[in-house]
Amino acid sequence: MDKATVGIIGGSGLYEIEGVEVLEEIKMDTPWGLPSDSITIASIGGVRAAFLPRHGRGHFILPTEVNSRANIAALKMLGVHEIVAFSAVGSLKEEIHPRDFIIPSQIIDRTKDRPGSSFFGDGVVAHASFADPFCGRLRKLIEPFIAARGLRLHMDETLVCMEGPAFSTRAESRLYRSWGAGIINMSVLPEAKLAREAEICYAMVCMATDYDCWKTDHADVTVDMVVGNLNANSAHAKALIKEIVPALDGGEDCFCRSAMRYAVMTAPAKRNPETWAKIKTILPEL
Ligand SMILES: [Zn+2]
Repeated sequence: MDKATVGIIGGSGLYEIEGVEVLEEIKMDTPWGLPSDSITIASIGGVRAAFLPRHGRGHFILPTEVNSRANIAALKMLGVHEIVAFSAVGSLKEEIHPRDFIIPSQIIDRTKDRPGSSFFGDGVVAHASFADPFCGRLRKLIEPFIAARGLRLHMDETLVCMEGPAFSTRAESRLYRSWGAGIINMSVLPEAKLAREAEICYAMVCMATDYDCWKTDHADVTVDMVVGNLNANSAHAKALIKEIVPALDGGEDCFCRSAMRYAVMTAPAKRNPETWAKIKTILPEL
């Protein structure tokens, strides 16, 4: 497999990008089941990219239902070491306007129904370092491309990941604001955690569509407006993918690439051999 494949996880529309040469569609199977959909392999500026729509083509999988273990494992099995994920988010801060872009640096986990949020368990214990949940190297690499498009960009914001599928209550939205969080979605977890466990560099490009529900003086929000914001954000995301993919450098020396080297706690003789065999499919160097 090509070692330089870049992984793109995004919304349903992101795999159809004008001017991008599609090489093949791959149906993957993993020890953790099937990913959200087939994976589109494309060539962008001579670099292979693997596109995976998080909610399936046509958007039929709830955030709660996404098999993130299979998604991350499938990309790793295709030789992906760097993932740029895209997500629509709600803004929790006045200064983060709809249509602004955000590269968050932190996460607050408010999910509560996400089985399969670790590759470990079942007789093999490991604890990944997750103090900085995103790859700092990848975040810095992506930043200038967003700035160069004249988009308003916010770095170093905290992303709240809620369970959904209903949006927050106003009291919850105000609570998250009081915590200093900047944006909210339903998609970054367990995806980011599993990427770290799989030793993949992972960063998320977030695109604000609305002011969540805390902003009560923002009464003129319409479905048209939100859809308009989504479409504008998606057009920018597609252009960004074409620019970012050829610029990624593989990150061979990045911390993420050896994140699990000393993380397994279970003595070799005590490891469940079946679980260990599954883990070795994505972490052969452990
Ligand atoms: Zn990294």
